[in-house]
Amino acid sequence: MAWELVGRVPNPWGRVPVTGGGQSVTPKVAEYMARIAERATRRDCSSKRHHYVPQSYMRAWSSDGKRVRVLDTRNGIDGLRGIRDTCVRENFYQMKDGGNSHHQAEAMLAVIDDETARLLRVLRDWTPGEDFDFEDFMSLAVVLAFQRNRTPQIRRYLEAIDDWQRQRANQQMPTLTSTGFVSSLFGSALTAADEHSTRQLELWDDPRGRFITCDQPVQITSDSPDALPDMISGKYLMWPISPTRLLVLSQEINGEKVTHRIIGDAEVKRVRGVFIKGAESAIIALPGDGNLPAGKRPKRPQLRVDCTPVDVKARKCRIRLAWGYGKETLDHACQPLCAMRSQ
Ligand SMILES: [Zn+2]
Repeated sequence: MAWELVGRVPNPWGRVPVTGGGQSVTPKVAEYMARIAERATRRDCSSKRHHYVPQSYMRAWSSDGKRVRVLDTRNGIDGLRGIRDTCVRENFYQMKDGGNSHHQAEAMLAVIDDETARLLRVLRDWTPGEDFDFEDFMSLAVVLAFQRNRTPQIRRYLEAIDDWQRQRANQQMPTLTSTGFVSSLFGSALTAADEHSTRQLELWDDPRGRFITCDQPVQITSDSPDALPDMISGKYLMWPISPTRLLVLSQEINGEKVTHRIIGDAEVKRVRGVFIKGAESAIIALPGDGNLPAGKRPKRPQLRVDCTPVDVKARKCRIRLAWGYGKETLDHACQPLCAMRSQ
């Protein structure tokens, strides 16, 4: 089949901003990926407390650099908490190598944390009219892939998919271990980064400093409250980088390196809603913020996957993805063999 031009997209970078799943990474990304690979071979990391949101990121909401206000949605407790004790879990990235467990993933992710801190300084200091470096844009795409997928919420989603796989194959499958989780995180990072770098970089400012964040700090918006947000249909990927600035990767490519906007009350409210709804169990806000939902919010966003046969010969199942507080269904060939067909 011959190539056919289906559309033109303005590109401000002068180069194609994709890695092809890691086939052609830029020098900056190649440099830190090599450092990660080198750290992976060592066994010299003893840190057992693993932050899944970097401390340098949360510090933007802190007045003393040590504590942030956290609303724990499981019990409604709202107060200052040490950054060192926020968005952290013991042994979360622990890996097994033969019979031995180790914490080397923490040393590997520390490379990403350092690069995240550097990019946050660039992005927080950026002023309208300023240039933006292609290397930084491509690195941002990678950093966001890690931040999006390294959290307990994503691990919980992967476990839900595993549960379904186990049922449809009707056989014993090993449960998701932290080793498996870390492997998939690193294995998918550059493919996920390509979904980011083909979007429009936007910085939205709220001069009144009302942006909040949460323990799942990268969120993808969804047009319908019942639909599963995904990178194909989700118009915006959002990452608040300070109370006054929100980083957005949008589907509206306009040929600018950075699109800058100052947003008003209604949009600020919508953005805040995305992070309140998408939080796993912690919402992070400025101490003086008087508009957080009070009390417990025991519901967390859920991903439940199951399937029921609709056409046995075609092996077509109705796959149901339930997300958040709603659900959507897909009629899909359920392959390889779906054990549900015999029921
Ligand atoms: Zn099925």
